[in-house]
Amino acid sequence: MENIKDLGFESKLVHAGDFKDEFGSAVTPIYQTSTFSFKNAQHGADCFAGEADGYIYTRVGNPTIDALENKLAALENGYRGIAFSSGMSAVSGVYMTFLHQGAHMVATGAIYGASRAIVSSHFQKFGVEATFVDTANLAEIEKSIRPNTKLLYIETPANPTITLTDIAGAAEIAHKHGIPLVVDNTFSSPYLQRPLDLGADVVLHSLTKFINGHADIVGGALIAKTPELHAELVKTRNYLGGNMDPTQAYMVIRGAKTLAIRVERAQENAMKVAQFLENHPKVDWIKYPGLTSFDQHELAKKQMFGFGAMMSFGVKGGFEAGKTVMDNVQLAKLAVSLGGVETLIQHPASMTHAAMQPEERMQAGITDDLVRYAIGIESVEDIIHDIDQALAKI
Ligand SMILES: *Cc1c(COP(=O)(O)O)cnc(C)c1O
Repeated sequence: MENIKDLGFESKLVHAGDFKDEFGSAVTPIYQTSTFSFKNAQHGADCFAGEADGYIYTRVGNPTIDALENKLAALENGYRGIAFSSGMSAVSGVYMTFLHQGAHMVATGAIYGASRAIVSSHFQKFGVEATFVDTANLAEIEKSIRPNTKLLYIETPANPTITLTDIAGAAEIAHKHGIPLVVDNTFSSPYLQRPLDLGADVVLHSLTKFINGHADIVGGALIAKTPELHAELVKTRNYLGGNMDPTQAYMVIRGAKTLAIRVERAQENAMKVAQFLENHPKVDWIKYPGLTSFDQHELAKKQMFGFGAMMSFGVKGGFEAGKTVMDNVQLAKLAVSLGGVETLIQHPASMTHAAMQPEERMQAGITDDLVRYAIGIESVEDIIHDIDQALAKI
């Protein structure tokens, strides 16, 4: 598999990162070991000096984890992936790498709740400041950049408002100011969006979601565009110790192989569900990038290869009506997370984004009536029947 870069995306999903072992294993084996023995003292010294091939210790490198990191790099067209124990460990790794005492970052207002919360809970005490803005409006980004701004961090589509940010436009602003652009690509997965190709410097994933895709593993990753960025980020991971476990890496490799067919079916279902909800008398509003009524539909067509499986909607009757829907769905699970094969539904104002101040939620567009709906790969008639009977209970 010399020219993996020349293969199609689906072939990369199946084969990229694979390595041949002496037994000819068809799939990447799990190297469940914490440490590796050296051939002799000189080999050990050479491994530490980076002058010999060889593994030292699983926190800093392991063949199974390497296989995943190489697969992710191939999928995102990056230099190399870095696997983390969780998506949040990858987010912390980004902040720890690019922000220093007195530094400032500009980020999407409606980012993943914890990505925003750790700034005030942990990074503020090191003198780090953040400005959260509606990055859908590029002028807002430009306006918020200060002399001490060291990072532009965006999530698109953002969680849970489904607001998009123009990645190429954001990259242009970041680079004009000499700072890196990091894109949380969790909601799209590399099947639907490849930020490095649009000018981003680092891509972030919660592997927990679409890439693993089976709701049975927590994991995260960064994919760096250049060897220099990779070197900085991997140092943070290795010293802070947010490394992935080999079995976890094996599970993600296995899940990733079917990413294309899972996302394809999920977004096909999502389009039908969104069209159904758009015309439903109990639904006040709906945001799904595939609908022509979606205010950023043109941007979605420009920078994404599909519209994904995530949507949010507001039910007539607000919070109480939303609660009724969530208490009455039977097929969809009332659960946070997304990107698995099953349909999930949740209420951000009382769940994932409850830690935000109400004013912060309003500013980020997370209204009290917003219901987040992650569509799975069940039979679409069943998904629609389920939400319809739950809406009828209002
Ligand atoms: C889930 C999620 C994270 C955090 O990832 P974990 O794997 O839960 O730590 C970050 N960003 C987005 C967009 C997510 O959905």
